[in-house]
Amino acid sequence: MKTQNIKAALFDLDGVVVFTDKYHYLAWKRISDEMGWSFDEKVNNRLRGISRMASLDEILKHNNIDLSIDKKIELANRKNEYYIESLNELNETDMFDGAVEFIRELKARNVKICLCSSSKNALFVLEKLGIDDLFDEIVTGNDIKLSKPDPEIFLTGAKKVGVPAFHCVVFEDSSAGIEAAQRAKMRTVGVGNADETAKIADQFIKDYSEIDIDLFIKCGRKKRYPISETSFIETDIDLNDIRHIESMFSLGNGYLGMRGTYDEYEEFPQIAGMYINGIYATEKYNHLVEFKGFAQEDQCTVNLPDWRIFNLYVDGEKASYKNDNIVDHRRELDFVTGTLKRRFIFETKTGKRLRVESIRFLSMNEVHSANIRFIVSPLNFSGKITVESVVIKDVKTNGKNYIKPVETFDEECFTEKLIVPSTNQTVFISVAHNVAADSYSVENKQNEQLYSYTINADVQQNKKLVIDKFAAFSSSMDNFSSMEFTKKLALKNKCQGFDLLLEDQIDFWNDYWKTADIKIKGNSADQQAVRFSLFQLKQQLPSINQCSIGATGLTGPKYSGKVFWDTEMYLMPYYNYTLPYSQKELLMYRYKTLENAKKLAQTFDAPGAMYAWATINGDETSVVYEASTAEIHLNSDIAFAVWRYVDSTNDKDFLYDYGAEIVFETAKYMSWRGSFSDAKDGKFSLNAVCGPDEYNCGVSNNLYTNMMLRFHLKYAIEIAEEMRDKAANKFEHLCTKIGLDKTDFELWRKIAENIYIGYNEKIGVYEQDDSFLYRDPIDMNSIPMNNDIRDLFHPLDLWRYQVSKQADVVLINFILGNEFTGDEKLRCYNYYEPKCNHGSSLSSAIHCIMASELKKPEAYEFFESTAYMDIYDFKKNTSGGLHLACLGGVWMSVVNGFLGFRHYKNGVSFSPNIPDSWSEIECSFVYKNNHIKIEADKKSAKFSLLSGEGLSFNVYNTEISLSRNNSVIDCIKG
Ligand code: BGC
Repeated sequence: MKTQNIKAALFDLDGVVVFTDKYHYLAWKRISDEMGWSFDEKVNNRLRGISRMASLDEILKHNNIDLSIDKKIELANRKNEYYIESLNELNETDMFDGAVEFIRELKARNVKICLCSSSKNALFVLEKLGIDDLFDEIVTGNDIKLSKPDPEIFLTGAKKVGVPAFHCVVFEDSSAGIEAAQRAKMRTVGVGNADETAKIADQFIKDYSEIDIDLFIKCGRKKRYPISETSFIETDIDLNDIRHIESMFSLGNGYLGMRGTYDEYEEFPQIAGMYINGIYATEKYNHLVEFKGFAQEDQCTVNLPDWRIFNLYVDGEKASYKNDNIVDHRRELDFVTGTLKRRFIFETKTGKRLRVESIRFLSMNEVHSANIRFIVSPLNFSGKITVESVVIKDVKTNGKNYIKPVETFDEECFTEKLIVPSTNQTVFISVAHNVAADSYSVENKQNEQLYSYTINADVQQNKKLVIDKFAAFSSSMDNFSSMEFTKKLALKNKCQGFDLLLEDQIDFWNDYWKTADIKIKGNSADQQAVRFSLFQLKQQLPSINQCSIGATGLTGPKYSGKVFWDTEMYLMPYYNYTLPYSQKELLMYRYKTLENAKKLAQTFDAPGAMYAWATINGDETSVVYEASTAEIHLNSDIAFAVWRYVDSTNDKDFLYDYGAEIVFETAKYMSWRGSFSDAKDGKFSLNAVCGPDEYNCGVSNNLYTNMMLRFHLKYAIEIAEEMRDKAANKFEHLCTKIGLDKTDFELWRKIAENIYIGYNEKIGVYEQDDSFLYRDPIDMNSIPMNNDIRDLFHPLDLWRYQVSKQADVVLINFILGNEFTGDEKLRCYNYYEPKCNHGSSLSSAIHCIMASELKKPEAYEFFESTAYMDIYDFKKNTSGGLHLACLGGVWMSVVNGFLGFRHYKNGVSFSPNIPDSWSEIECSFVYKNNHIKIEADKKSAKFSLLSGEGLSFNVYNTEISLSRNNSVIDCIKG
């Protein structure tokens, strides 16, 4: 299975497969009694997972005794004799219930099984119980030198079964064992009852039956989330998963973004996150060695005041996921209403029970506002309760103070002005409250760190205390940012009331789903995953201030809010064919940062504009220049996105006023960047670049880059011809502004006609670049799949191997698929896919699309890997934020993949081919002002014109024409 993440399971023995604990205990007890030492269960607990000698040291430490090494050896040996003697009693009742069956199930799914026990008697125990044949490999205390938590034992096990650490999972009952596994960079499952282990392991089980095996071997997670087609639900609070789940429950509206932190404040392990798109801090780089043009500053979207906090106290006891006093917990990210809802029962130590509910949303209609309702009702008592509504002003971003509260105003409501000193940006936040209860009093408090609004209420049994919190934000990103604006907005919302605001929110999402939904019939889990993606994508789409979208949007600190090519190539497809006009905002971000791109070109002494690979304000921040700044394909990707938008909307005003300038300036840079090479028969070569595949840097003639440039330059010439004809004044003005003349257009034409495209006759494939085919082969089974491997190799090694991080040739086979024959695409896929380790979350969607076109059975598997990447945290890094490009890839997998949707210069086409487990896909798309519904099942596809004048396009290679008179057409799959 290509997307399987768990390929080996490493088991500790004691407390995981069998219980020999009691025999160890008895042996140590016997020694201790003989020696007159104190020894009890508590000391014994500390001996879990560690070697005999380390155990003896623990006991000696506990007794404050020092012994000579000879004496220690003698005692350790004696303990072993006692232990072995007692093992004669070992029998089936000492086995961990269900462990053997579980291991057999794993084996049946081709997972390698290895025993990793520090005990030197492990083999004896296995043989005694007749389960030695269960393990493919065995590592015992005799094979290793260092005790857990040293990772030696697990690294040895992984080596023996020949599986990279990333694909190994360790089952352990001791915290030393979990730590060892984590140091070996393996996934961990804590087994048993130990609190310490439960706290640090990735997953924790008391019993093997808690594990859903098929899910587990895909991603190392024990359990599926409840399935709901219109929401994402959490019913258990998993302390080890808090950060991942916070990303999943993120809210956003394109201007504001907020992580799904629980209502109550706990310093650890949560990563609270509140962001405004475009509010960022900078920090100077200190390069150890500096060359010309290196990025000078890093940028980072800053974390804003943490305003979502509600702390509930009864008799001084706080309701908290950390205090073990929350039961019947349920949280739901509701795609229909655009809200995050939570409810739970708070059970105090003295037996008081209270129902607690909260609902929060970031308004889609007024993107500066954010609201929470918090409701408490005592279930079995009447009495006093306290709710503290808090705003923490003094917040950090990645541990650093990037934003400073500077001024507080507290008339009518709380308002704070903050500044980001490094960028001189300002932020205002106002917070107002409404309280409804029979009897309560309020206390307001303020200091430099926080603002709190405390409600002390006397509430009758089954009556409610309702607190509504209305926050408003504005910033120097807005052209009206002011204290007055935020204050008025918070007060207006307070006056309007929570219910009306919520109604507006529901109306918004209701309208939205009418054009943007995808219905998957026959598979509710996939339906949920697809809607989750669409919901999150819409939440990140900016509608004001000409902003773009960071790689993790406003959902977490990973990638620091920086914008990459992800927006143009992975997010825009969904937006473009759903809400086409929304694309102008994203493209205007590129226009707004064109001056920065020109400056970046100048640092290379180049003309024109070169966009920064990773940026918020337009300046390059990436220090890994060889795999980022070198990805100059970004310039053509942006030109491609201009074409896609203009072709889809016919927005010529945008094209003539802004788009053309972007396309020309970048064309100017790109045509300067290469040369016609004699050794390549005079063809235009682009050297020292990096294609989408970031493992292969500083390469020449990357196919993707060259073909995208050809498209880019041809488009530039087309625009020039069109503008000369239809917008002559604007064209002339633009040419003067940029400094373009005839020679530029001639050069672009010459390059477009003569760009080097490498094709290898011997192997029968297009060359990814001039060197990929000649590189050293690598055993793909020896490296992790689905994970970035750049930290496993010295770059000089990585660059010599024939391994790619993500779709590169396969990507261009899709994007410009009409420039290849079907046979060529098949040969490229067969050649390149097996050499790709899908180390980027951007990889699987493209492979799904091409596997679907080429009728490969793994298409659905690639869809799953895309659709569940964040839900089940396949890469173990969703805690830092959602992989938005991958979420965009979910739309692409369904629409470009299973519906076979393509958009080329000659128009759009479909070729539906839906997965076995689905019975129908229903969705719609917007193109050239036509809104068209598609209903595709396994045998046919129906197209209905919902609005617009009509459109002709190809379905299964045959042209159909939808018009007002012929608004529904059924197409039968050939
Ligand atoms: C990928 C890039 C992507 C970036 C941000 C990297 O791992 O290789 O293609 O732009 O992540 O998502």
